[in-house]
Amino acid sequence: MNCLGTWALSGLIAISLLAGPAPADTISTSAGPVEITPIHHASFTLRAGGKLIYVDPSPASLFSGKPKADLILITDIHGDHLDPGAIEALSQPDTTVIAPAAVAKTIAAAKVLKNGQSTSWGGWTIHAMPMYNIRRGPKPGELFHPKGRGNGYVLTYGGKRFYISGDTENIPEMRALKNIDVAFVCMNLPYTMPVEEAAEAVKAFHPKIVYPYHYKGQDTKKFAELLKGTGIDVRLRDWYAN
Ligand SMILES: [Zn+2]
Repeated sequence: MNCLGTWALSGLIAISLLAGPAPADTISTSAGPVEITPIHHASFTLRAGGKLIYVDPSPASLFSGKPKADLILITDIHGDHLDPGAIEALSQPDTTVIAPAAVAKTIAAAKVLKNGQSTSWGGWTIHAMPMYNIRRGPKPGELFHPKGRGNGYVLTYGGKRFYISGDTENIPEMRALKNIDVAFVCMNLPYTMPVEEAAEAVKAFHPKIVYPYHYKGQDTKKFAELLKGTGIDVRLRDWYAN
């Protein structure tokens, strides 16, 4: 192939990488690798030790025919986090669903974890923590996410700690987190928080790695810019390719 051909081909490969679904990232732990794959908006998978965990699988159309889940974690009742059709599509007889009580009203088989509670599953420890709005809501006196309804999660596996924010603002419980290796932090308006507030929260608890997720319509490059010089590894992935 001539030079021009090679150049054109590498250009095509670069474009297809940008346009395609986000590739998996691997985090090494003392129990072996954890593979992270963004799927859509708040949905992603964690694969470790031959087990597959889905977080907030939605919408159902993206999950039919996909590998079955060993564990499904749900954060809240809104449709971008809870889609009963997706849970049905991913479930097999020994699939565990862990969710807050508000979700268990719809998914009767879910094992309920309240804010502050922990449980073990496989080699993982799963701790539920608050996620909520401090001031944003559909109208005065109402919040999109009242405190106590939904769960953020801190997962521990092989000595590494993974934080999943759920839908939240810059809450004190997030800022007080310690020793987080990998954080998934939401940022979108009007429902959660703008990138500036997300960056402030992330600076406060200083994870080693942060993935902006649940960021539809937001400028995640600006988020990365705001964290420059902090030493935090900001991983921008395309969560909207699917
Ligand atoms: Zn949401």
